[in-house]
Amino acid sequence: MAEVSITLRIAGEPKSVAFTAPEEPVTPAELLPVFRQFSNAMVEAAEAKSPVSCRAGCGTCCRQLVPIREMEAAALAALVDAMPEPRRAAVRARFADAVERSALLRERLDARGALDRAGRVQLKLDFFALGIACPFLENESCSIHPDRPLICREHLVNTPAEWCADPAHHPIRALPIVRADTAVANLFEGGRWVPLIDALTYAPHSAAEPSAARPMVESFVRALISQAAE
Ligand code: SF4
Repeated sequence: MAEVSITLRIAGEPKSVAFTAPEEPVTPAELLPVFRQFSNAMVEAAEAKSPVSCRAGCGTCCRQLVPIREMEAAALAALVDAMPEPRRAAVRARFADAVERSALLRERLDARGALDRAGRVQLKLDFFALGIACPFLENESCSIHPDRPLICREHLVNTPAEWCADPAHHPIRALPIVRADTAVANLFEGGRWVPLIDALTYAPHSAAEPSAARPMVESFVRALISQAAE
């Protein structure tokens, strides 16, 4: 193990991320906790700079079609597997219910990679219209907050909160932040995404080969820096 600390200057402010890099080869998925730390740093910097409308107890965006990464789907499936009963059974039942209630959209959900931008937007609107809550939403709050996907961390809205309930008529504006989610997708997964409701049944494209942790984290940080420069 090697202790690594990386300091990024985000919006003029230094933000340090410290983590333990394993010396032995790891898969990108094993670095997910590190990617989350960078994501948290980006989010903290963005929140300090601009006010956001998101508030605890507002779970409106948790009824959207939430696109997560393949490695996150596997992590969420493992998280649910490790839950004690009867919570595990309850969460699994909510996933099954979400999949069943979205059956009319299944063909488009499975063909999501072939949809053009307009098709993706329509799919998101049609999914939201079904009102299916994320299986992890409890009392309008995220029940897996420390383990939530990168996209959930990085979705910070600064349009009025009530607009989120009517995305067909109100364009929702999110803070322009440097996204760990995008860096992970482009670097390690060819831009693919998985609907969160499919996390427990998703079969990944292929298992990534383990390799040295440090170069992977360095590539990830370079991807963040190039996003910031765009
Ligand atoms: S994982 Fe948590 S934050 Fe993300 S959609 Fe589900 S309940 Fe909401």
